[in-house]
Amino acid sequence: MTDDRLALLGGEPVITQPLPHEVWPPPAATAELAALAAQRDADISIKGRSGPIARLEEEFLRFLDDRVRYAVTFNSGTSALLAAYFALGVTEGVQVVGPALTYHAALSPVFALRGDVALADVDLRTRGIDPGALERAITERTRVVTVVHQWGHPCDMDAVLAVAERHGLRVLEDCSHAHGSRYKGRPVGTFGDAAVFSLQANKAVFAGEGGILVTDDRRVHDRATLLGHYRDRCRDEIDDEDLRRYWVSGFGLKLRMSPFNAVVASHSLAEFPERRQGRHACLRHLGEGLAEVPYMEPVHVSEEVDMGAWYGYKPLYRPEALDGVSRATLIAALRAEGLEVGAPSGPRLATLPLYQDDRNPLFPDLGKTPHRPEPATNAELIERRALSLPTFYRWPQDKALIDLYVEAFKKVGRHRAALADHQTRTS
Ligand SMILES: *Cc1c(COP(=O)(O)O)cnc(C)c1O
Repeated sequence: MTDDRLALLGGEPVITQPLPHEVWPPPAATAELAALAAQRDADISIKGRSGPIARLEEEFLRFLDDRVRYAVTFNSGTSALLAAYFALGVTEGVQVVGPALTYHAALSPVFALRGDVALADVDLRTRGIDPGALERAITERTRVVTVVHQWGHPCDMDAVLAVAERHGLRVLEDCSHAHGSRYKGRPVGTFGDAAVFSLQANKAVFAGEGGILVTDDRRVHDRATLLGHYRDRCRDEIDDEDLRRYWVSGFGLKLRMSPFNAVVASHSLAEFPERRQGRHACLRHLGEGLAEVPYMEPVHVSEEVDMGAWYGYKPLYRPEALDGVSRATLIAALRAEGLEVGAPSGPRLATLPLYQDDRNPLFPDLGKTPHRPEPATNAELIERRALSLPTFYRWPQDKALIDLYVEAFKKVGRHRAALADHQTRTS
């Protein structure tokens, strides 16, 4: 008889494979290293739209089924978002509505442009902005709605676009979690007036540091280029004469991507289809396993979407089905069993000082418009209940490990009474 006691209470752990279980970004193949070496002497500062920068931008448009005409690389997703907000006209007195729970950089550049943000609750199924809450958050100063396709699941775009149209809003898609995700067959990033994909190292398609802005709107392209790409690129790529006359100085910022990052991103993009297949196989298997664990709610995937990148795996915990054990105690028990597990890192945006201060801290002369958000009940629930598990992608190599993850969840379920008792004794 083996010792079935929880590892937290002195038993044997289910998993002995050392961490990390999610190895990301994956190491480079030889061809990528050779391309990086060749770039070193070919050109290490690209001023116009050429070489690996132009190549990446063209490949990215193809990746989006050529549904939009322009792609502009930046040195980070955050920089691309800053340029997108500038291009969409965010300035003093303009309000942007965005989701209550997401990565802060989706919205924080708005404050650097002297704009303001109103937060709307998210939908429990998509985990993206709830179209009803979005509509209720709109004021006479709202000009832009930002959607984030959170953790790879596309937002309800039909409903979001209908609200935006009713109120004359421009739509910005932050696709940093959703490379390759599709809504009703169409790639995310092709629905809004502009879209940004971060290419930071954690993302499904990665440059290391980098971001890309895509749009079908010539004026958005021109203004975004002017903000971050002065000299050659502005001179050669900007259509509008009124804007092109600023080409030497641009509008003051230099936010270009380095050619090395573009080389890395191109290789990552080429390898993405295979990794995507692996993520889908692994995470479908994990979801099926967790469906057999009464206290866990596997990640929901709506019928009309393709998860593409499947960025992260964040199922919800139901403590009522585990004798009321806290999430922290559950995480401690699972970690003792050898799992790589935690609580998702991003807090609700409303809890950040940038949102809590009643002045814009970048421009202390600038108050914020009082805005009394509805309670973000769903965002709070996800913040309190979600677990973060590895985004497994090596199929079938990871299958055995995924089975052990599920086995560990089941083991904790069998011992819930002992775990609840342990929690009472140690609190
Ligand atoms: C990563 C991320 C960003 C910021 O991108 P960087 O490339 O890290 O600057 C913005 N929004 C979301 C949703 C992200 O996940």
